Amino acid sequence: MSLAAKEDRLPYYRPTGNECTIFEMAHNNGLPLLLKGPTGCGKTRFVEHMAARLGRRLYTVACHDDLSAADLIGRYLLRGGQTEWVDGPLTRAVREGAICYLDEIVEARKDVTVVLHPLTDNRRTLMIDRTGEELHAPPGFMLVASYNPGYQNVLKRMKPSTRQRFLSCTFGFPAPEDEIAIVAQESGLEPGRVAPLVRLGGHIRNLSGMDLEEGVSTRLLIYAATLIAGGMGVERSLEVAVIEPLTDDDDVKTALRELVVTIY
Ligand code: ADP
Repeated sequence: MSLAAKEDRLPYYRPTGNECTIFEMAHNNGLPLLLKGPTGCGKTRFVEHMAARLGRRLYTVACHDDLSAADLIGRYLLRGGQTEWVDGPLTRAVREGAICYLDEIVEARKDVTVVLHPLTDNRRTLMIDRTGEELHAPPGFMLVASYNPGYQNVLKRMKPSTRQRFLSCTFGFPAPEDEIAIVAQESGLEPGRVAPLVRLGGHIRNLSGMDLEEGVSTRLLIYAATLIAGGMGVERSLEVAVIEPLTDDDDVKTALRELVVTIY
């Protein structure tokens, strides 16, 4: 298959810097990678794209505050009166030489870091206490984690001892010409009609002094463009895909509506 044909079959991802090279080098050298950035800016899509490009299976885990080491490693389950060991996604990824992506890693419980430490330094081992196994990660295994520096509270900050085991890259929102291409590709709306949406996104992200926890994501701009491409009016589309998802505060909604009027 030609390179162009192969690229066509991968999950669509438009690079915005040298992140593909960094990922590839991390993978080839057995180094873990940490992706930092706001929600909806393309981190998950990037990992899906790179896993497919490198021909590696991907195990994605959305971390939450109840996620424990056992959820990642595995547990004994009762099956037909017998207890049987069932691997968790991290163990499966280590056994198969796959990529394991821990999305929003700072949300996970503290015992998770204990498991990750020997896996993210030169030992590259996963200890399964329950079965007494010690797995050595094959060369294809790679650990990728992400977190959103914007959301963190003091209790959930990543400890330096964990951070300093990963290569790290910061993801921001794509530059306007990239974001227009991405939103057009994902929504089917023509680039000329996507441009004002992306301009609006830029203004919202630059707003200071407003009670917005975070600027509008590329994901929300794609939702708005999808509604517009499907025939919904621009104003209604922006209301449900941008303004309502961003805030509950009536004053902020009014300010966002005024911004829409200045652009459209
Ligand atoms: P995150 O994991 O950072 O929360 P996602 O990867 O889910 O965000 O991105 C949200 C959506 O934005 C994706 O489903 C994809 O449609 C689109 N997207 C964002 N950045 C890119 C990019 N650089 N190339 C292709 N699609 C992108």
